[in-house]
Amino acid sequence: MAAEQNECPICLAQPTEPVETNCAHGYCAKCILTYWETTWHPDACQCPCCRREINLLMPVRTNVRDRETQEKINNYNRMMLNRSIPLTSQVRDGPNILRHIFNEILSTSGLSFCSRLWIVFILLLTLAYLISPIDLLPELILGPIGFIDDIGSFIAAMMYIVILYRQDMGRR
Ligand SMILES: [Zn+2]
Ligand SMILES: [Zn+2]
Repeated sequence: MAAEQNECPICLAQPTEPVETNCAHGYCAKCILTYWETTWHPDACQCPCCRREINLLMPVRTNVRDRETQEKINNYNRMMLNRSIPLTSQVRDGPNILRHIFNEILSTSGLSFCSRLWIVFILLLTLAYLISPIDLLPELILGPIGFIDDIGSFIAAMMYIVILYRQDMGRR
């Protein structure tokens, strides 16, 4: 959740069992789920703050403890897996989702062992490619143009990690 946002925009209180959307807005899990059920269900929920489509609900700090609420969040994320997400939205939400992924990698909860392993492997592979002198477009010969393949492979790797995370969320 954004540091400056410390109240739920729906109930205007300190969020209980907070979740964050892909568009980086934070709500109480129950508030946003009730809002979705009464307003947009069965279609995708639109964020009450920015009107963008919510295609991922991520637990913040502690995992949501109430089983029924957690199940509803999982169902929502599972439902969104079948939705095609526009590239503009993927690029915009990327940094926020990646921040959650890194938080989950550093904590013991959340990501499954298999997804965790895959993500760390891809990160190491990307890092190895970035620092290795063997490139598709070597910087030493091509100068700044030589960084295009590095930037491209970095962005592709990050986008792939987000896809892995969405699938992991959808399986929970
Ligand atoms: Zn609330
Ligand atoms: Zn929003």
